[in-house]
Amino acid sequence: MTIRCYHCNGLLDENDMVIKPIPLICKNGKVRNYKRKFHMECLQEYMKNSSNREVRKSENDDWSKVYEYYKSEIMRYPETSNLSIYEVRRLNGLRVGSYMPNGNTRIVKKGYSYKTILLTMQFSKAVIVKYIDTHKFHDGEHKINYVMSVLGKNLDFIAEKMRLAQEIGEMTQSNRKLAEYYKNNFDEYIKDSSVAGAFRMLIKEHGEDNLLEAFGLVVRDGRAMDYIKSIEGTHRLNYIRKIVAEDKLPELRRRADSRKKQIRAVNDMENEITVSATKYKRKGGKRHLNWLD
Ligand SMILES: [Zn+2]
Repeated sequence: MTIRCYHCNGLLDENDMVIKPIPLICKNGKVRNYKRKFHMECLQEYMKNSSNREVRKSENDDWSKVYEYYKSEIMRYPETSNLSIYEVRRLNGLRVGSYMPNGNTRIVKKGYSYKTILLTMQFSKAVIVKYIDTHKFHDGEHKINYVMSVLGKNLDFIAEKMRLAQEIGEMTQSNRKLAEYYKNNFDEYIKDSSVAGAFRMLIKEHGEDNLLEAFGLVVRDGRAMDYIKSIEGTHRLNYIRKIVAEDKLPELRRRADSRKKQIRAVNDMENEITVSATKYKRKGGKRHLNWLD
């Protein structure tokens, strides 16, 4: 029998499985503990989030929005009405990725967030409303089942869109850091939009940390900087992009290393001179005095 994690719905191996009683309120209002199985990390995350008031509040708020949108925008029930238990359970089924869940549907990572469900409803509204307004259903449950099946089909699409939007948002942030670095060091007159566009692909291919290291190496390399200053602003960006994309970095790293060695050698030499001068003062200085006497 396959066992799945209560939190992430991933497969559980007997070896890294932990069992934890989770309290649930039963239909009669009494609290009962149910033994749930988790991955070790998943249990930690679940416990952390269930004791976090803000996480719980934001999930409850999102659920209220789902409830309201379904009631007034999709089904267009009167304002004073409440959703049936069947509808509530089907909506919560979308949350955890099952048909009609019995117990808890909050905090867990599996399934889809209420935010995703709300966006999916907004996205699917026109199609659903048009269909339910022009078709006859045997009964209310058939109508509800139709709505749920459309939502269920569109959830993945919207979840993917949300993931992409988040990725782009994060990328823009690191893009800004790089663009600022570029402007401060290489060309203060360049337009923000041209740097941002050029670095989007580079960030995807090389990662932000590598790029920042590369920029730092260029800045500290006298020859590269001399060259950059000597060419026109419009070509500078392309030159930097080429250094990174064609992997000229090992060369820059090697040059930075030998520069470090040179500086160390000069320092050592200066130390040696100071040492021998002191020695001379100690030894010969006295003789000098003697001679003056
Ligand atoms: Zn898990």
